[in-house]
Amino acid sequence: MEQEKQRRLRTLPAVHEVISRLEHEEEFSPFLTNEKQLPRLTQGVRQVLQKARENVNRNFKDSYAEFETSLWSWLKTQLLQELTHPETSLRRVINGTGVVLHTNCGRALLAPEVARFVAEHAEMYSNLELNIETGERGSRYVHVEELLCHLTGAEAALVVNNNAAAVLLMMNTFAQGKEVIVSRGELVEVGGSFRIPEVLKAGGAKLIEVGTTNKTWLRDYEAAIGPETAVLLKVHSSNYRVEGFTHSVSGTELVELGETRGLPVMEDLGSGSFFDGTNLGFPLEPTIQQTVKAGLSLVSFSGDKLLGGPQAGIIVGKEAFVQRLRANQLTRALRVDKLTLAALEGTLLLYKNGGLEEIPVWRMLSLPIESLKSAASELVGALHSNPAISVELKEDFSQVGGGAWPTVDLPTWVCAIRPKQGSVVELEKFLRLGPVAILTRIHKDRVLIDGRTLLEGDREDIVRRLGELS
Ligand SMILES: *Cc1c(COP(=O)(O)O)cnc(C)c1O
Repeated sequence: MEQEKQRRLRTLPAVHEVISRLEHEEEFSPFLTNEKQLPRLTQGVRQVLQKARENVNRNFKDSYAEFETSLWSWLKTQLLQELTHPETSLRRVINGTGVVLHTNCGRALLAPEVARFVAEHAEMYSNLELNIETGERGSRYVHVEELLCHLTGAEAALVVNNNAAAVLLMMNTFAQGKEVIVSRGELVEVGGSFRIPEVLKAGGAKLIEVGTTNKTWLRDYEAAIGPETAVLLKVHSSNYRVEGFTHSVSGTELVELGETRGLPVMEDLGSGSFFDGTNLGFPLEPTIQQTVKAGLSLVSFSGDKLLGGPQAGIIVGKEAFVQRLRANQLTRALRVDKLTLAALEGTLLLYKNGGLEEIPVWRMLSLPIESLKSAASELVGALHSNPAISVELKEDFSQVGGGAWPTVDLPTWVCAIRPKQGSVVELEKFLRLGPVAILTRIHKDRVLIDGRTLLEGDREDIVRRLGELS
């Protein structure tokens, strides 16, 4: 083993040897003839040789089965990939996981026309904070406020950096130095370290927990109200469900209680949706409009979860309350960028004009099972002749992601791949470490690729990468 490793390490050429051999390879001439590109080429050769050494040391075969014979072609392929690789840190990833709102991959995708609108605004001056009629300074929030009020039925709206910031702002504005009552069943932690108790603390509010994990009654809130109580807060349980022997208090009931005791009721809806997804098979949950209608003072939700827009924290509710948020200095620190506002306005316009199928998140969530099947079987078909793997069409389930409908399994079809050599763990890694990272899911002895979250051109890249296995 060790001997073989040493032998392999010795066969690796030196940097100058690689470069002089490349002089006979046509595809590298753009890099050899251009003085500016030469340092990049040298650097690339170093990196690829380093990668080869690491592979030998780990005894990880990567794409070359017979080391010596395929070394040169392996080096060339890797080098070309290295050189044509974008130099940016932020790169395209192929999401073959079927998780539509994949937090690690940037959550919601924008609709193409929304993305174009954003790109245009990145390159031009606009009336971001200008009242064109009077020539005076305006507010950046007017561009989306009317649309948000129109779509949600609320009196007023404000947008901040994300939903965590929205909750922080609400608590800081209305409950600093005071008490906030929250059910023990709603003290959530959302991925990426958002914890309701911590956010309340950061906002300067004191958390008063009521009820138990599975049951909270109106009388629990009632009993906890005291002279220091500032807000009754409801939080969407997002990424978990308490099932069985449970009870929680609805927004409507809390609003009634709040009215009799003179207290505002606020809700962190988490994902929040303009649509009830029951016709897509999702369990019934109050929409944003229904929550607003229940009479809550303020309701907050994310822009890049089920809404399908940019990262943002949207707060809608009663005018008097939103006005106090606007007056808080923190709002300035949490304000959103013009590109976010452009993306949000574009997305909200799609909702206003009824183009649900144009919003990628909803298009992916509502894909008919036949088209999921044909997407997966096209991939299976394209991979059939690959001698290094065996592929099958299989039924499976996709996930919504982003903490929305965590218990819902969306029926789908996947391309299930079994490597003829090596393990599935190695195959998953091989796909992830290619020129474009391909994210997949491992299930038992197979790597699964779900057609639900694949985009145009992804299939070709997957087929090409797997072709490098053989
Ligand atoms: C996702 C979520 C948040 C955090 O929202 P971001 O927009 O990611 O900041 C807060 N509360 C709940 C209930 C959530 O589901």
